[in-house]
Amino acid sequence: MKMISVVVPVYNEEHTISELHERLVKTLAACCDSYEIVFVNDGSTDNTEKTALTLKPLELISFAKNQGQTPALNAGIRKAKGDIIVFLDADLQNNPEDIPKLLEKISQGCGAVVGRREHRQDPAARTIFSKVANFIARLLLGVKVHDFGCGLKAYRAEFIKNFELWGQVQVFLPAIAKARGAKVCEVGVAHNDRKAGVSKIKISNMVKGGLGLLKIAFIARFLNPYR
Ligand code: UDP
Ligand code: MG
Repeated sequence: MKMISVVVPVYNEEHTISELHERLVKTLAACCDSYEIVFVNDGSTDNTEKTALTLKPLELISFAKNQGQTPALNAGIRKAKGDIIVFLDADLQNNPEDIPKLLEKISQGCGAVVGRREHRQDPAARTIFSKVANFIARLLLGVKVHDFGCGLKAYRAEFIKNFELWGQVQVFLPAIAKARGAKVCEVGVAHNDRKAGVSKIKISNMVKGGLGLLKIAFIARFLNPYR
């Protein structure tokens, strides 16, 4: 019996986490024998923590101060006990109901599954930037993924455990999974407008992500990806 861990980084998302949790429980109870939901509250200053404490079942990690999405995911991966680890953003831009599609791919032999946002609801400048970045990433990493930045991804745990996340590396983590032997697959997923709150990812993060791409390409090609 495979256990699923869903890891969600959460920063000032008081308006969405209750609905997100409810939809996650419904989806996971229907698809999976064994699961856990891990929220990493990344130093939120709104009512996120107070609300999260009322949600069950939930594994909650809380940072005293805001660290960023990457350290939040890193802590969530360390905590996750599942054989399969799913990443999902807290803002409901992706639908929790799409998770079974990714799990289906895993059961077909994929070690990493990346969502591909259909009908993307982001500003045009961001979508164009992303198309170019994805093209360069495909070339450099040799991983045929069209939407590295999608927040919805699933991995067999052994392909990402014990890899310390830095920079914005979660975006290109499929390359590490591949270097560790995973078959990397992608699957179309829905994408919605942010219902509430604001995007916390700045352009500078994207630039950092671009520089991180070079580092990860180097690790995946020339170094031991288990270190
Ligand atoms: N996030 C976080 N810490 C941060 C910034 C973001 O945990 O410092 C979380 C956020 O709550 C969301 C996810 O990371 O669940 C992605 O952030 P956001 O939706 O703002 O990014 P975008 O979708 O605009 O790229
Ligand atoms: Mg978002």
